[in-house]
Amino acid sequence: MTPTALDTRYIYDFVEEPPGGRELLGGKGLGLSEMMRLGLPVPRGFTVTTDASRAYMETGAFPADLDEQLEDALERLERATGTRFGSSEKPLLVSVRSGAAISMPGMMDSILDLGLSDSAAEGMSRTTGNAQFAYDSYRRLIQMYGEVVEGIDAERFEHALSTLKHERGVLEDTELDGSDLRELVRRYKRIYRDALGHEFPQDARAQLRAAVEAVFRSWENPRARTYRQLNDIPGSIGTAVNVVQMVFGNAGTRSASGVAFSRDPASGGRDPHGEFLLDAQGEDVVAGIRAPQPLERLQDELPAAYTELKSALNALERRYRDVQDVEFTIEEGALFILQTRSAKRTAAAALRIAIDMVDEGLISREEAVLRIDPSMLEHVLHPMIDTRATVTAAATGVPASPGAAVGAVVFTADEAARRSVREPVILVRFDTTPDDIHGLAAAQGVLTAHGGMASHAAVVARGMGKPCVAGCDALQIDESTGTCTLGSVTVREGETITIDGSTGRAIVGAAPLVVPDSSPDLDIVLAWADAFRTLGVRANADTPADAARARAFGAEGIGLVRTEHMFFGEERLPVVQEMILAADETARRAALERLLPFQQADFEGIFDTMRGLPVTIRLLDPPLHEFLPAETDATSERMRERIRALRETNPMLGTRGCRLGLQWPEIYEMQVRAIARAAKAVAARTGEPPRVEIMHPLIAYAEELHRLRDLTEHVMDDEAPGVPYLCGTMIELPRAALRAADIAPYADFFSFGTNDLTQTALGMSRDDAEGKFLAAYLERGVIEHDPFATLDREGVGELVALGTSRGRSVKPELEVGICGEHGGDPDSIAFCHHAGLDYVSCSPFRVPVARLAAAQAALAERGTTYEVAGG
Ligand code: ADP
Ligand code: MG
Ligand code: MG
Repeated sequence: MTPTALDTRYIYDFVEEPPGGRELLGGKGLGLSEMMRLGLPVPRGFTVTTDASRAYMETGAFPADLDEQLEDALERLERATGTRFGSSEKPLLVSVRSGAAISMPGMMDSILDLGLSDSAAEGMSRTTGNAQFAYDSYRRLIQMYGEVVEGIDAERFEHALSTLKHERGVLEDTELDGSDLRELVRRYKRIYRDALGHEFPQDARAQLRAAVEAVFRSWENPRARTYRQLNDIPGSIGTAVNVVQMVFGNAGTRSASGVAFSRDPASGGRDPHGEFLLDAQGEDVVAGIRAPQPLERLQDELPAAYTELKSALNALERRYRDVQDVEFTIEEGALFILQTRSAKRTAAAALRIAIDMVDEGLISREEAVLRIDPSMLEHVLHPMIDTRATVTAAATGVPASPGAAVGAVVFTADEAARRSVREPVILVRFDTTPDDIHGLAAAQGVLTAHGGMASHAAVVARGMGKPCVAGCDALQIDESTGTCTLGSVTVREGETITIDGSTGRAIVGAAPLVVPDSSPDLDIVLAWADAFRTLGVRANADTPADAARARAFGAEGIGLVRTEHMFFGEERLPVVQEMILAADETARRAALERLLPFQQADFEGIFDTMRGLPVTIRLLDPPLHEFLPAETDATSERMRERIRALRETNPMLGTRGCRLGLQWPEIYEMQVRAIARAAKAVAARTGEPPRVEIMHPLIAYAEELHRLRDLTEHVMDDEAPGVPYLCGTMIELPRAALRAADIAPYADFFSFGTNDLTQTALGMSRDDAEGKFLAAYLERGVIEHDPFATLDREGVGELVALGTSRGRSVKPELEVGICGEHGGDPDSIAFCHHAGLDYVSCSPFRVPVARLAAAQAALAERGTTYEVAGG
């Protein structure tokens, strides 16, 4: 029998031991309940589970019994706090707060000060003797409730507030006194009535019910959806709702609210960091209503609360063994913690913190390796402004997320999204809100006039690994004229600026950027990772410079040298064209003979750089017409004729790879000869032969490889007898994967070319798919991941697994790797680990990513896991 709705408990009080974790209570609810049981100062309250929100999503209504359970929970809360919800004498006020299992900061809606009404506000004003406080709370409720529950445009409330401030001749919200705020409430209620045709609800229980329902609904709001899409969070998990007794940071100058990190989320330094505002509530700090003060100042303002906060941060770090990001409120000197979660941090901070925590004995090296998001490592080696260049900062702000970026100035998120298709952009705003998320995603970096380290722009930019300069006082934006001023310089929309999120500088024009190629912290963590991983990591590199970079990043070889770029070189292209235009084999061979020394020099350079490590060279792959100009640009009739002759309807599936090599064997012969001579020369020079792997592309039939292996052996024997080498093939056609057992006898190694294998397995040409129907597929959820970025495990992955096992069934020692772009994608790397591949090969910049991801896959297999705290 399925349990009836009556059997389901939808509500747990913070004080009880819940029967589930974050999936049930959401991260925020679980954190509150755990902090309560740790003895930290948390207001009373309860959590409505994600089960209830899922039931709501299914039916569009509260599950049976939820109303009754809400009423019971409220009564328990009333008893625990000695106050009454809806009463006008000492009323109980609550906040209603969303909180999913996975942290989605600021993406859904919370409502504060529920339970206030005309009479309750009057009662609160009387009992506290503080009308300013009572009516400040009430006007906040009307606005938040109006926005979140009823969808009234926030602008209308903001406008009324600034009008009143203007009338009273004040600048700060806090300068409005009790009677001003009473007037503001009157105006807010009028806005509410005008918008909806009914009065603001005076019944506390009706407010609460509507607020809970609004939070359920907010799961589906556009910015929450975008955030989930960007972060791969499934829509089906739903959100929990937390009902929390209000504590008041806006009760006067001995009250405050703020955010605190247990360590510095930008640098990883050990001191707590954060910001607070005296006499403020809720998200005033994040919203940047007034300029917040740095956390250290709290020590002077409210020393006892500061000390207590420091020890709470400490206790939380010990409990969760990770840096915590905490929201706190101080009411009349008393500290309350309202939320804790693992802090988002820059890649550099993540490394520093992991290393420190290993030193402090808080975590093991395994955990340190597991907890760093591999995809963030690309940002450790941030571009920075070349220190040799002289640059003048037009203005400076808070260095809120490190790295430097150059781009065209845009003033809105929509414009950022539009313009970024054409050129890099820097989003320049007074501040940002969750509605700007698409603009932040599109921009290279963000510059704001307002807010600090904890502002929305700063937090999101750090999470995305993008530079951010926040709180730049000398920035003034005038959207009406499409200009801004940076200090004394006026900059138009579309003009180029540079921002440096490591130093806080904003520079007019494009400053020269350089990318550093090492970081001591990165080296430490990667050395730990190397000790855990079993999968090899190579790089794709076509030049000695790329190979050197790859080696510096820790590549254990080159998994793919593409030889075609060697044909495109300025001095070479005319010779290549001569070769293609040649009337007969003799003429063709003569041209190839002239290309050979170029190729040999290229290979020697790479062999030298990669001394002692394997280098896999792929013979010419693209169709020949790519080396000829468009027919209209042809320089001779002969050329036009050849262009027409080589024209193919579908070049991707035409005369490429080994098909080319079999049709014009002299091309591959020349390439193998160049490899042989280069190997011989390097061996003679260094006394150590390079580890050569010759790779034939686009094999479909075993017989193709059979013949090309003969060609390879023949030339190698002829040119460089005794020089060792491997001869193998790319597997990039489904037939090759399926017939791997026929092919393996002729191959010393397989390398899965997963770019082409994805195209051919899915029948999708990448250029025609991405940005077109594939974008629509992703948006509509037909598929979850772009198969060109993350290996399609079920389809293409099965071909990889099958090809590997069939190949090894006849040749157990067969070396197997992948060299598609997937080689640098953490999820695909985990797949390759499990499929038993020997190595992945990726772009040089992704080598650190691959080393870490490979270690994480190995650790996961051993059952070592790491769970993120809070939410
Ligand atoms: P988000 O998920 O967007 O961070 P929260 O539910 O944490 O939203 O609420 C935002 C802010 O509102 C909190 O950081 C806190 O400052 C304030 N807040 C929420 N509940 C309470 C409460 N019970 N008492 C005082 N302030 C609260
Ligand atoms: Mg928030
Ligand atoms: Mg919060």
